Amino acid sequence: MERVNLDGEEIIPLTICLIGGGGFIGSHLCEKLMADTSHKAIVFDNHSDKINHLLDQSSPWRDRIEFHKINITNNSRFETPIKASDLTINLDAICSPYQFKWEPLDTIRDNFLDAIQVVKYCTESKKRLIHFSTCEVYGKTVSSFLPKDRDLRQDPEFYLLKEDASPCIFGPVIEKHRWSYACAEQMMESLIYAEDAEHGLDFTVVRPFNWIGPRMDFNPRVDGDGVPRVFDCFNNYLLRGEKLELVGGGKSLRTFCYIKDAIEAVLLMIENPKRANGQIFNVGNPDNEVTVKQLAEMMTEVYAKVAGKSAPGSSTTDVSSKVSYGEGYDDSDKLIPDMTIISKQLGWKPKTSLQDLLEITLSYEHQNYSKSIKKALCEIR
Ligand code: NAD
Ligand code: UDP
Repeated sequence: MERVNLDGEEIIPLTICLIGGGGFIGSHLCEKLMADTSHKAIVFDNHSDKINHLLDQSSPWRDRIEFHKINITNNSRFETPIKASDLTINLDAICSPYQFKWEPLDTIRDNFLDAIQVVKYCTESKKRLIHFSTCEVYGKTVSSFLPKDRDLRQDPEFYLLKEDASPCIFGPVIEKHRWSYACAEQMMESLIYAEDAEHGLDFTVVRPFNWIGPRMDFNPRVDGDGVPRVFDCFNNYLLRGEKLELVGGGKSLRTFCYIKDAIEAVLLMIENPKRANGQIFNVGNPDNEVTVKQLAEMMTEVYAKVAGKSAPGSSTTDVSSKVSYGEGYDDSDKLIPDMTIISKQLGWKPKTSLQDLLEITLSYEHQNYSKSIKKALCEIR
């Protein structure tokens, strides 16, 4: 059946190059492209674990998806595929606060220097680019700098993050590693904008606000090392029956968006270039705001529900950022996306409540990891 976009135009099948497309977001985007569209995907990444189910010989989509295992740094192997594709989506990044601290050079290299090549190949071949940036480009909110007793702190004017109005506030301290990631991403947005201004690059920039779902980072000591993003940290503690560690008491606020809602937004950008080109889009769920402490409490409750009798008991404990991440950690206080632009241009809004997305994702985690974690725990004992 013919598919049409928001303007009623027929959607022509595209060849899409996904740089860093083997990660969390890339794997869900590839699934969506295969299951619901006729587009073809060419994926470049260090890893294919999260998309192997699509690449398998028995997969019904095997002829529409290609995977190339490469390290993107200093590599020009993706020049020809980018130039031969209709659209490139750049998802390649180092995006966990633990890595900002312990791999600071790679963080700047991946998020800025490597991305320069991708942008250059798109400009040279006059091909469209959708670049994944981050909500971290906003830094801290204006409200966090107002005196604690001022009512203005509660005024959305001073905390709601708007693509075309909010200032980016990082602070001057270069040893706070989080901001080198934010600066790298912000500089990349500026470079993309300049390429459009001088050479007419067709671009869209996406700023994700804490997307969550199955296949997020990794479970420490099972399929990865280090500290993943908060959902996988808490999930791992729950699976092991350990205390959930709240950095600095878990006072920071985040809004969490279900990955499948967010992927709908990305598909709208892919298939509605006239509405998406030249835009920067916040993509998040402003209704799902909680403190990190509240997230821990909700996850504990939901995990007990989905795991039933096999849920080991867990509680929370406060830790210092120095213990979790080492010296030089800084945090974003509150990340609520303003949705005006994406709603106006693409008519998109998120649907899934935090309760529902936690139930779906923790059920997946319990089914896929509880046995391997139990086995690992038995071996230690
Ligand atoms: P992810 O870590 O799962 O995906 C990134 C992928 O890039 C990984 O598969 C990794 O192997 C690959 N990669 C990194 N360096 C590489 C290299 N040198 N060579 C080859 N492959 C390399 O992260 P994600 O959550 O899927 O994020 C995708 C994009 O969205 C990133 O740009 C990230 O900054 C941005 N983002 C995501 C979120 C979120 O909520 N998930 C929030 C803010 C920003
Ligand atoms: N966090 C926490 N305990 C953990 C991991 C993270 O309290 O085990 C906090 C972290 O300090 C931050 C929030 O959770 O305030 C979100 O962290 P995440 O690593 O997911 O990424 P961020 O949104 O900060 O980029």
